[in-house]
Amino acid sequence: LASCLALVFAAGAGATLCYLYLAWWKRQEDEVRSGVLGLIGNTPLVRIASLSEETGCEILAKAEMLNPGGSVKDRVALQVVSEALSEGRLAPGGLITEGTAGSTGVSLAMVAAALGCRCAITMPDDAAIEKATMIQAYGAAVQRVRPVSIVHPDHPVNVARREAVATPGALFADQFENEANYRAHVKTGEEIWRQTGGRLHAFVSGAGTGGTIAGVSRSLKARDPRVRVFLIDPPGSSLFNKVKRGVMYAREEAEGKRLRNPFDTITEGIGINRLTANFNRALVDDAFRGSDREAVEMASYLLRNEGLWVGSSAAMNCVGAVKAARALGPGHVVVTLLCDGGHRHLSKFHNPEYLAQMGLTPVAQGRSLDFVE
Ligand code: PMP
Repeated sequence: LASCLALVFAAGAGATLCYLYLAWWKRQEDEVRSGVLGLIGNTPLVRIASLSEETGCEILAKAEMLNPGGSVKDRVALQVVSEALSEGRLAPGGLITEGTAGSTGVSLAMVAAALGCRCAITMPDDAAIEKATMIQAYGAAVQRVRPVSIVHPDHPVNVARREAVATPGALFADQFENEANYRAHVKTGEEIWRQTGGRLHAFVSGAGTGGTIAGVSRSLKARDPRVRVFLIDPPGSSLFNKVKRGVMYAREEAEGKRLRNPFDTITEGIGINRLTANFNRALVDDAFRGSDREAVEMASYLLRNEGLWVGSSAAMNCVGAVKAARALGPGHVVVTLLCDGGHRHLSKFHNPEYLAQMGLTPVAQGRSLDFVE
């Protein structure tokens, strides 16, 4: 009888604790957030029904377009600037500089505006113009430069670094080498773990700086080393080779011989030809190649079948999720990230005329995923 009573008591106590924990979470969700910065992170995890049903796996994606600046990069901007302010590397009201294809620029401009800092962004002039317009709307300065290799002094990263060095109290955000980037995504990984209750088999992502795949892979594998991490790499990027064969990035790039990618990709924000401090932190099990055509078809597929309007890297991530699902076989849970929405890609990735010029007009119909190779 005594052990029966003890059991009933333990069960009751357990249920009460569970209830209190859930109530606490619910309160956190309903809580008033503190300013625009309080809206960053804690994004929902969305089940993509069509991809799940077609692959036989559960395909889940973090809806990062719901961050207040519209992309996953809000997390990084907040982490980079908070760490710099608390360590005294950025003076209050000081200047923040960055070289970026755009998304990080938008996020930094937003965080700077929220904190009363100044911001100057340098970006390649072939990146979608929407992002430059948004950065300026937040009150930041934008300099658009012709696309050159990282070894060239006019590369956006080098321009931004020089600007910060020349300005007292300024911070060069340095998203490629600054490990605050991947630390921001350790939290993204924690959210994924909590939202799935630890029931996931794989995480798939492209890499631009490598911050996302590094932070999330470390976070998930620390909790369960069996979680498989896959890279999806677009055309022109050499990370695929690095992961597949342990090969360092293209020798020509290191020697400054190659000034641009041998061919470019439509997926803005992912693909890189050098190893960054952030990517070096990533724990990647395997890699897939993704093509521009697959990304364009996937974006059109998600619009048609889900009403989900995503940007190019998010579309490529979903291509990666399908490839991972096929590699693992039915019955697995595969998580990826919707880095941003389609709105900021109106002039290129979501512009039918631009796609036609590139010979990339989507043709696939219905729910079949045959366009994924
Ligand atoms: N998608 C978009 C739209 C981006 O701007 C970036 C970052 N450049 C990425 C994906 C890649 O993320 P990460 O830098 O964390 O590798």
